[in-house]
Amino acid sequence: MAAILSVQNLSKQYDGGFQALKNVNLEIDEGEILALLGPNGAGKTTLISIICGLVNASSGTAKVGGFDVVGDFRQARSLIGLVPQEIALEPFQTVIDALRFTRGLFGKRNDPALLQSILEKLSLWDKKDAKTMELSGGMKRRVLIAKALCHEPRVLFLDEPTAGVDVELRKEMWDVVRQLKQDGVTIILTTHYIEEAEAIADRVGVIRGGELLLVEEKERLMQRMGQRQLRVELM
Ligand code: ATP
Repeated sequence: MAAILSVQNLSKQYDGGFQALKNVNLEIDEGEILALLGPNGAGKTTLISIICGLVNASSGTAKVGGFDVVGDFRQARSLIGLVPQEIALEPFQTVIDALRFTRGLFGKRNDPALLQSILEKLSLWDKKDAKTMELSGGMKRRVLIAKALCHEPRVLFLDEPTAGVDVELRKEMWDVVRQLKQDGVTIILTTHYIEEAEAIADRVGVIRGGELLLVEEKERLMQRMGQRQLRVELM
């Protein structure tokens, strides 16, 4: 299977000299779910922010669908969707308007049938005319996913999609992610939770102190996690 995302020797030094990423190498196949597992400050957001064109890399390359995102992000832009960690929505905008607006930002024509299918998939169709401020926290998170999907990206990044949410909502989010994989979307999500990686990922990458320590098939990693020493090392 072809790699849709390829990262080589990617490093990031923030102004002030802090080294947030150190020579990260990573390949992801089309249709995979990769969970990037790591504690606070590990570099997870920095990594996906570089790939999503929000932060400049200090050195190295990253390609999405063959397009170099470090050198020139514009060609890769339409292939990438990002669900940020913070819930940032226009409070007075309706759900459907939020999607139309976001699709417009990508220079795409309004496509009512597509937007309906996205909202149905996320169980939000009956909320299409609700203002975003009227929605529950779980619904708002699903609106963020809908917004990230409405230009039909091939790769979706979810930055800690279940941070601070209760167990029910977490499971709901896992179902959404599994459904997106069924639809052929490649997914990279960041998380602090081993059980989240176990529940949904095909492969798991462990990142700490800016280093990608390992990337492994979930089953193999979970087998090894049985060994107490490894569990302690990853925590
Ligand atoms: P969390 O799980 O808490 O979101 P993370 O793994 O996503 O953490 P990053 O947000 O990538 O980690 O941060 C990695 C390191 O880089 C942290 O030490 C952080 O303080 C530092 N950092 C992030 N953004 C900047 C910035 N703009 N300037 C300087 N340092 C930064």
